[in-house]
Amino acid sequence: MSSEAHQSVLSGLAGEVLEHTGVKANSCYQCGKCSAGCPLSGEMEYPPSYVMRILQTEDAELEEKILRSFTIWVCLTCEMCYSRCPMSIDIPKMMDFLREKSIREGKANPRAKKIIAFHKSFLDSIRTTGRLYEVGLLVDYKARTMTLMQDMVLAPKMLSRGKLNIFPELIKERSKVSKIFSRSTKKNK
Ligand code: SF4
Ligand code: SF4
Repeated sequence: MSSEAHQSVLSGLAGEVLEHTGVKANSCYQCGKCSAGCPLSGEMEYPPSYVMRILQTEDAELEEKILRSFTIWVCLTCEMCYSRCPMSIDIPKMMDFLREKSIREGKANPRAKKIIAFHKSFLDSIRTTGRLYEVGLLVDYKARTMTLMQDMVLAPKMLSRGKLNIFPELIKERSKVSKIFSRSTKKNK
C-alpha cells in the first residue's frame, strides 16, 4: 500500500486530525525529539510524542483521555516541537484542533479553567475592538475567574507609567474582523 493510501485509512481522532489540520499521525516515527525539546513536557500527562503515539493506536478510550487531558491546554504553541520534528509534523496546529474539539464536546480538563477563561477574554477583546485591549481583557478575565481584586494594587502604577490605556483603540473596519470570527465559528461547528 502506498504511503498516501495508508494515511487515508486513518480513522477516529487521527482521521479527524488529518482532515482538519493535515497532520498525519502515521508519519511520526517516535523519535521523541518533540517531547525532548518541549519546554512544558514536564507539566503534561502526555508529552507531544505520546499524543502522536496514542493517535496512531486509534484506540477510542485513549483518544478520550487526550481530549480530557491537561496536556492540550498547557501547550504554548511555541512551535519548538514543530521546528525539531524531522517529519515536519505540525503539532501546535494539532493541539489547537484538539482544544477546540475538547471544548465543543464539553470535555475540557477542569484544571484548564483559567487558561480557557484567558483564551475567551483574549478573543472577545479582538472581536470587539479589532485589536488587543489590555484593560478590557484584564477586567473580563478577572470577572470570569472571580479574581477581581487580585493584583489590583499594580493597576495605578501601570496606568501612571502609560503601560496601560484606559480606553480601547478601535480599528476602522471592525466588521471584517467580525466576519472572520463568524466564518471560523461556522467552520468549527
Ligand atoms: S508547541 Fe506545545 S507541544 Fe510543541 S513544544 Fe511548544 S509547548 Fe510543547
Ligand atoms: S519529533 Fe516528529 S517524528 Fe519525532 S516523535 Fe515527535 S512528532 Fe514524531
